Amino acid sequence: MKHPLRHVWGRLLLAGALTTGLLACQGRQGLRSEDSEKVTVLRGVRVIDGRGGAPLENAAVVIQGTTLQRVGPVDEVEVPASATVIELPGRTVLPGLISNHSHLGMTRGTDSGGQNYQRDNIARQLTQWESYGVTTVTSLGLNTPLIYELQKEVEQGTLPGASILSGDQGIGVPEGAPPMKVVEHQLYRPATPDEARQDVRETASRHPAFVKVWVDDFGGTVKNKMTPEVYTAVIDEAHRQGLRVAAHIHDLEDAKRLVAAGVDVLAHGVRDMEVDAELVDAMKARGTWYIPTLGLNESFYIYAEGPAWMADPFFRRALSPDLARQLDDPAWRASVLEDGKTAPVNKKALTINLKNVKTLHDAGVRIGFGTDSGATPVRIPGFAEHRELKLLTEAGLTPLQAIRLATANAAELLGLKDRGVIEAGRRADLVVVQGDPSTSIDDLSRIESVWHRGKQVPGPTSAPAQE
Ligand SMILES: [Zn+2]
Repeated sequence: MKHPLRHVWGRLLLAGALTTGLLACQGRQGLRSEDSEKVTVLRGVRVIDGRGGAPLENAAVVIQGTTLQRVGPVDEVEVPASATVIELPGRTVLPGLISNHSHLGMTRGTDSGGQNYQRDNIARQLTQWESYGVTTVTSLGLNTPLIYELQKEVEQGTLPGASILSGDQGIGVPEGAPPMKVVEHQLYRPATPDEARQDVRETASRHPAFVKVWVDDFGGTVKNKMTPEVYTAVIDEAHRQGLRVAAHIHDLEDAKRLVAAGVDVLAHGVRDMEVDAELVDAMKARGTWYIPTLGLNESFYIYAEGPAWMADPFFRRALSPDLARQLDDPAWRASVLEDGKTAPVNKKALTINLKNVKTLHDAGVRIGFGTDSGATPVRIPGFAEHRELKLLTEAGLTPLQAIRLATANAAELLGLKDRGVIEAGRRADLVVVQGDPSTSIDDLSRIESVWHRGKQVPGPTSAPAQE
């Protein structure tokens, strides 16, 4: 970035032209004498509040402690004398992005599997998501009990990185989905509806945000698919326990059956055929959420094709050395492109998925935001979410509609009223970018600073934290 802004409480690391914009700035002592809650004002900014409406130009955003205290036009917002004021002309502030479908600890470098569910690895992933402006991440299944420790530490401020919501272990299938290497206490595979109910009750004792199920035979590559008897039992038992159920799906028929059985969230897009009025009507009637995960299928082949943006620092910073080596390797690229199956199959799925999200969005179905980032090495935490926003605009959503999915809608899907929108009283989870993402979604990747609960954290290109 041209003008790195690195203002951290108690120490000033402001560089470049922005220092001249600083109207008032006091150290920790000065602020404490005025108020135990520190106040920072981002001034002269364009605000995209997350709800999909037109941006507010020349605004002031007042952060007090961890919370947004005031948001409004510059001449209507009173600035306390003790506040730190940061002038940000030409910049846009939007809510921190929220992922409704990601996975923690399933990859390290180019390696996949539950053996990577380790504290140091997950901690690194959480700071990567946060640095790309994704301030809340839902790990939708395949979690060991370690997730609850990490979740608590992030909220207490003792562990840096994105806030966590848990989909606990999730309910898989014996000799079936998900086809991943797992470790102990990372996944249930019940054989009967009764076993499934027992697994849901055990899950409920840990108070996750969701119960996850997988209803897919991965194109016939796994032996068994979850039966309607088992997922009906899971949904019923979860609802008895006050929990919601999110389902991995691929096919329209499964989506319809799950919605009829009362599932709360379809955690992937329908990718075998175009959605029809029957699904639209059922989802609207029941208020079922839909997470398209457009980038999932693209991730199988796009890096082998070597698009120009793979040279951008914004992308490179998200790669471990091992992964960068693989993605740049001509032999690996050729093996992906020449197998005659991977690219065509996934391109077709993406094409259907793009069409379906537009249909469902325009019909008024509730749409959330997620990419399945972290499930495999090529679903790259932080970068994947920005790619997903771009794909949503390629599906035909406006940039403001796409941003709404990743902010206000994603918070609502999770039942969180404390974030996802820029308004007084919500958490100060913010992304500051150069330019105007309401007219060009590409400007979202021009991140200048990220704020999580009122504190500035390292961004993707402004800080050396992601080596
Ligand atoms: Zn997933």
